[in-house]
Amino acid sequence: MAVVERLVLASGNPGKVSELQSLLHGLVAEIRPQSFYYVPEAAETGTTFIENAIIKARNAAAHTGLPAVADDSGLEIPALDGAPGVRSARWAGDDADQAANNARLCDELIDLGPHERTALYRCVLVYMRHGDDPAPLIAEGHWVGEVTDQPRGTGGFGYDPHFYLPEQGCTAAELDAATKNRLSHRGQALGHLRSRMEALWRGV
Ligand code: IMP
Repeated sequence: MAVVERLVLASGNPGKVSELQSLLHGLVAEIRPQSFYYVPEAAETGTTFIENAIIKARNAAAHTGLPAVADDSGLEIPALDGAPGVRSARWAGDDADQAANNARLCDELIDLGPHERTALYRCVLVYMRHGDDPAPLIAEGHWVGEVTDQPRGTGGFGYDPHFYLPEQGCTAAELDAATKNRLSHRGQALGHLRSRMEALWRGV
């Protein structure tokens, strides 16, 4: 029997719901997106992934009275002090599309040498038992690569065509979905979240 009957995901993305459903199989009986409960979007006012994930999880839990999971993710470039970070989706402007974000990525790195092109994707997942939970579970994953100004591949999304993986010899956009899920920041964070939830319910 599942430990949690119902959980709300603070995202409207159906892909993320089914991904979480399969990962939390046996622990959670039913996961619905927050749109199912007409939860208004929370303003992502944090300057860190953790703050934004907590804001979103708290908002969904407070509006539904259910336990909630939220995620926040993005690209970090150490040579740019971690930019674009929490601004990854709108780096080139609030209404910018991904092509404009990728163009900005190439512009920003134009004068940087190969050693300064290190980049990482980071994903933070937060689980809150209720809107006033003082001790949310936090799970994190990251994935290291290098920015290439020669885009390659048609899979994935976002910055993937520019995210080169030396070990695999390809970009994230050239990986099949199962391989990306296994290696990615998001896959890592999801695995950690399951372990943390199991530990919580075992009382350790
Ligand atoms: P979100 O938190 O999943 O909405 O992601 C925020 C932004 O980070 C996206 O719009 C992308 O620009 C970037 N991002 C996060 N994860 C990935 C990824 O796996 N591939 C490419 N871009 C990503």
